[in-house]
Amino acid sequence: MNPGTAQMCLPKTTYPRIVIVGGGFAGLALVKGLRNKAVQVVLIDRNNFHQFQPLLYQVATSGLEPDSIVFPFRKQFSGYKNVVFRMASVEKIEPSTNTVFTDKGAMQYDFLVLATGTTTNFFGLEKVEENSLGLKNIRNSLNIRHMMLQNLEQAAITCNEEERDALTNFVIVGGGPAGVEMAGALAEFCRYILPKDYPEYPHSVMRIYLIEASDKLLSSMSAKASSKSLEYLRKMKVEVLLNEAVTGYDGTLVTTKSGRKIIANNLVWTAGVKGQFPEGIDNEQIVTGNRIRVNEYLNIEKYSNIFVMGDLAAVITKESPKGHPQVAQVAIQQGKYLAKTLLRILDNKPIEPFRYKDKGSLATVGKRRAIADLGRFRFAGFFAWILWSVVHIMSISGFKNKLVVGINWLISYFTYEKSNRLIIRNFKMKNRRK
Ligand SMILES: Cc1cc2nc3c(=O)[nH]c(=O)nc-3n(C[C@H](O)[C@H](O)[C@H](O)COP(=O)(O)OP(=O)(O)OC[C@H]3O[C@@H](n4cnc5c(N)ncnc54)[C@H](O)[C@@H]3O)c2cc1C
Repeated sequence: MNPGTAQMCLPKTTYPRIVIVGGGFAGLALVKGLRNKAVQVVLIDRNNFHQFQPLLYQVATSGLEPDSIVFPFRKQFSGYKNVVFRMASVEKIEPSTNTVFTDKGAMQYDFLVLATGTTTNFFGLEKVEENSLGLKNIRNSLNIRHMMLQNLEQAAITCNEEERDALTNFVIVGGGPAGVEMAGALAEFCRYILPKDYPEYPHSVMRIYLIEASDKLLSSMSAKASSKSLEYLRKMKVEVLLNEAVTGYDGTLVTTKSGRKIIANNLVWTAGVKGQFPEGIDNEQIVTGNRIRVNEYLNIEKYSNIFVMGDLAAVITKESPKGHPQVAQVAIQQGKYLAKTLLRILDNKPIEPFRYKDKGSLATVGKRRAIADLGRFRFAGFFAWILWSVVHIMSISGFKNKLVVGINWLISYFTYEKSNRLIIRNFKMKNRRK
């Protein structure tokens, strides 16, 4: 029998079964909200851990070790008596039979919640996709870290200047929070780590380019945030190219719309995401960005027992004609909301629509500098950076992780030191796992 159609083993229950696909910010908030309630919760994720995506760039640039920003589901759910975790990749859903098919087996649901998030969108640029790295999960971060460290070692070996430039130059595509934060962290690596670890390099080695197609950075934040981030990055010697788009990349040469050519063996793509979800959803429910359209109760109207939340959900209303922003706060608030809503549906009680409360945005540009948009208050600099640090430490899963990240940042604040820069596997672009 095909493993995808054999029934997966699950504990017997008399409670209704809620199957949640994806344990990101949204899925995790929903599981927490259903803890020890009169439902059986089955969380399916292709990884056995939750990952804290906002700090992926720190792992990529050797600022943090990977296990400080990921947390195992099974450890998280100890004491959650009604929660079952299954590590599997969901491939297909069949609404007519209430069945989920995974690569390890199938299961039935009473309610299904899709929270599978997004994947990197290369907008059809096949060569760019083939030769560059995205920044969407912990494997991507480790790939970037290894690519960079291996290339720096190779640069020390070669006597050919052009080859050395290609090996040390870094291009980041996309001027949103991920690109800006990545560029800031790399600039600090270049300034404080490179001269210590690689004293043989000339001072000018490792140029960092940040390429953004629109006319500003951090376009989802305020005008002040955009101009401050640009000012900070330029001070840190990052070459920011605005109104510029990457059109091709062969692994060494980046070409742009205006005809510019940049030599770089390192290219990280943060310029876009698209929704990812299993087969079985009608095409008519899919909207821009490959997101699934849902109503204000996060329900796909055609299927009364299927819900979608987080980055994947497009709640299109008059107030949010393009859907809510794809940020952690939306995902967490939707997870909490849906826990209450599903319990009310099961109790035959009336339900309220989802309302997003925007608590503001924060982004950091290296150490000691961040930008904060909090309602009417817009500020930048050291205080914003302290706020950014506290908010991130509070949001990471697990007490030990909070402590480790806090101590790491404290040490690095005073010493500019980063994690050990170890090359513990041989990274090859061709063999990478995405
Ligand atoms: C580099 C980066 C930086 C960011 N910085 C910020 C920030 O500073 N502030 C902010 O608010 N937001 C930030 N975000 C956005 C934020 O991380 C997302 O909005 C949030 O993670 C969305 O949560 P989610 O639960 O919808 O999806 P995700 O967190 O992406 O979780 C999806 C889960 O689904 C699982 N999955 C996917 N497909 C399948 C499948 N077929 N079968 C089984 N499991 C599957 C995945 O393994 C994953 O665990 C950042 C994102 C990135 C990539």
